[in-house]
Amino acid sequence: MDRLPTRKSVCPLCEMSGETADHIMTGCGVSSVVWDHISRWCKFPPIFGFTVRDLLELYKIINVVTIKKEALHGIIIIACWRIWKARNEKVFEGKAVNVK
Ligand SMILES: [Zn+2]
Repeated sequence: MDRLPTRKSVCPLCEMSGETADHIMTGCGVSSVVWDHISRWCKFPPIFGFTVRDLLELYKIINVVTIKKEALHGIIIIACWRIWKARNEKVFEGKAVNVK
């Protein structure tokens, strides 16, 4: 539905920008590290988008065989879920975020 229940405050992951769904998933330094690791791990071109929708539709335009498109789409969905889970663990449990 193109919505996440953010707090309209500072991003809890990087603490450097406003918290929006697009920032958390695409513009945040923390999520950027996640996407960089995933693209290297999967040997895909860099994963980049301006919006959450860009990420979720990336598999449609990436120049790889169909099976890799499906895998990339699944990996991006799981990574978005994990980034959101890390955000919630920081907000509600005070857990530090580690993307090394
Ligand atoms: Zn951030």
